[in-house]
Amino acid sequence: MNTQETIAAIATGGSNSGIGIIRISGEEAVAVADRIYRSPKRKCLKEVESHTVHYGYIMEKDEILDEVLVLVMRGPSTYTGEDTVEIDCHGGMLVMERILRAVIRNGARLAQPGEFSKRAFLNGKMDLSKAEAVMDLIQAKNEYALKSSVSQLRGALYDKITGARQEILHEIAFIEAALDDPEHISLDHYPEKLGAKLRKLEEDLIKLKDSFQNGRMIREGIRTVIVGKPNAGKSSLLNLLLGEERAIVTDVAGTTRDILEENMNLSGISLNIVDTAGIRTTEDQVEKIGVSKARAYARDADLIIYVVDSSTSLDESDEEIIELIRERKALVLLNKTDLDAVTTEEELEKRVGHPIIPISAKEKTGVENLEKALKDMFFHGEVSFNDQVYITNVRHQRAVEEALDSLKLVEQSVRDQMPEDFYSIDLRNACDALGAITGDTVGEDLVNEIFSKFCMGK
Ligand code: GDP
Repeated sequence: MNTQETIAAIATGGSNSGIGIIRISGEEAVAVADRIYRSPKRKCLKEVESHTVHYGYIMEKDEILDEVLVLVMRGPSTYTGEDTVEIDCHGGMLVMERILRAVIRNGARLAQPGEFSKRAFLNGKMDLSKAEAVMDLIQAKNEYALKSSVSQLRGALYDKITGARQEILHEIAFIEAALDDPEHISLDHYPEKLGAKLRKLEEDLIKLKDSFQNGRMIREGIRTVIVGKPNAGKSSLLNLLLGEERAIVTDVAGTTRDILEENMNLSGISLNIVDTAGIRTTEDQVEKIGVSKARAYARDADLIIYVVDSSTSLDESDEEIIELIRERKALVLLNKTDLDAVTTEEELEKRVGHPIIPISAKEKTGVENLEKALKDMFFHGEVSFNDQVYITNVRHQRAVEEALDSLKLVEQSVRDQMPEDFYSIDLRNACDALGAITGDTVGEDLVNEIFSKFCMGK
């Protein structure tokens, strides 16, 4: 690894800011930096101690490009495991680009997206699940997503997966030892014991697999669709939640024809809200498209928010929506509580069988109850990261599913009283599938693909 080319990139964001960082990693990192660094005290970076900071200038020929601080960190105690230099310069895009160009002219090459993290992985500084957590951390949209990637970065998922793999490896080793040395190691009653162990392991993996739904919602937001008859106040609710005038609010029934999608944060929980045309039976072609889209969105949604206008009575369109939300995660909002009630809370509750949250989008009341209901519904009141490991990544979910499939095959072999050497193959497959999460058993192509999704300079 250490003989690879030295790479460099701007590690801070792609816009002007107070401070910018140019990162250089590889065998030549210090030498490259030395060629463009001038110290007022005539220091030479090659001679300084590791993990020290140095004041000076970045020079190109005789021109000063910037006044900087240079961090010199020798491997293996660095992010990539290689010699690393970070140049802290002023954060203007032009300055950063000029320094980067100077670095490249003096012996480094431009890093590909994710290449620093890829080197960290290849040099054994972090497993794949941690590397992916770095990317999630950078992209985290909300507080919970951030917490879950920090927990993954600290190795929660790694520990869980490694633990499961070790258990499986232990069984493989035992079977192989027994087959090699049948005189001393007996396999009597082993299949029953193995069966019991597998069931326990499967239970754990199923929990992990199921955490994906929550994990996805934490990371990407809860797919939410707002439904209700025209004029119920769906756009007003959306505007209230977003705190700005985005959807068009009018009092002509059926104006919200286009589907609007908004990502928003409600006390730390991300909602991807779709505001749709009111669901109602209609002859109007344009409106019909909106309605059918609304139905399609409702089918795929994690959550349906049903808005009812309390100043009108329930009719057959409401019946249709009530049918739609049966057996679904839904919040029913009784809107316009500032007006005289035609439809009461009790009446609505009786019809829908969900608890009712009274609100007034106009007077901006009832939002706290909506937030509370949301937390109760999705995260049992509190999102906890201490005792549960979440899977937030489709790749990880597939790997767990594969491992489960293989373990089921082992169980089947146990039931069918197959010879013991049959077990090893499927046990090994399960082990390999889990190894793909931590990166112990992945090929180069997959590694390249994963890291190519990283941002520049990471
Ligand atoms: P949508 O068709 O379901 O999106 O409904 P809109 O959000 O466009 O609202 C329809 C009408 O109801 C508008 O005139 C709103 O100002 C009004 N409206 C919405 N929410 C309330 C509310 O809580 N109280 C009152 N009095 N009017 C509301």
